[in-house]
Amino acid sequence: MRAMTKDDMDLLAADFAAAARRAQQAGFDGVEIHAAHGYLLSQFLNPLWNRREDEFGGPIEARMRFPLQVTAAVRSAVGPGFPLLVKINSSDGVEGGMTEDESLVVSQALAQMVDAIEVSGTTYGKVKIAGPEGHRCLYARYAARLAELLDIPVILTGGNRLVSELQGLLDTTDIAGFGLARPLVCEPDLPRIWQRDPAYWPRCVSCSRCFPEPGRRCVLQAKG
Ligand code: SF4
Repeated sequence: MRAMTKDDMDLLAADFAAAARRAQQAGFDGVEIHAAHGYLLSQFLNPLWNRREDEFGGPIEARMRFPLQVTAAVRSAVGPGFPLLVKINSSDGVEGGMTEDESLVVSQALAQMVDAIEVSGTTYGKVKIAGPEGHRCLYARYAARLAELLDIPVILTGGNRLVSELQGLLDTTDIAGFGLARPLVCEPDLPRIWQRDPAYWPRCVSCSRCFPEPGRRCVLQAKG
């Protein structure tokens, strides 16, 4: 592992921008920059990873400089009218990582350039089991706090399982919507099931065992 040079960063920002432009040209409705879960942009934000002593390391205003550079490059590539979202950790969820207060600073800066912010949390590989006895709506408190500060939609992701709980958050906070990924890997028709039966508990328990499976297949599905 080695620290990126400024040239590396410029090249990577340009690569993000080119990828977003290709997605736009291919007909996607929008693009989302992943700045959460311990991937590269999240590593810049996390002081446990980011030990830089230049203008990209140190206080959060410096650590967020590269994620902002990437976001500005992508916005410039896709133009002002194309939906651009960013996904960010509410906090890194570890001692010494990015805090919620720091994440608020980053989100407010990103909000100047994006159309919505998706709130998640923690780091790649850490599993929090969801379900009736497990975690649910993991980052709702932070998302509600952020939604009060921003004029753009805030989307909550992570352990969203119960329609009545999600409706409660819509009714009592400024959270605008919800992200679902693994529950749709497990049950692609989940929204239709919920329309028929709002009390339905999704089967997905957020075990993340689909990650190493070819095609990200849910391990609860019969192999064939
Ligand atoms: S393997 Fe299945 S149950 Fe586990 S997280 Fe993935 S989709 Fe959900």
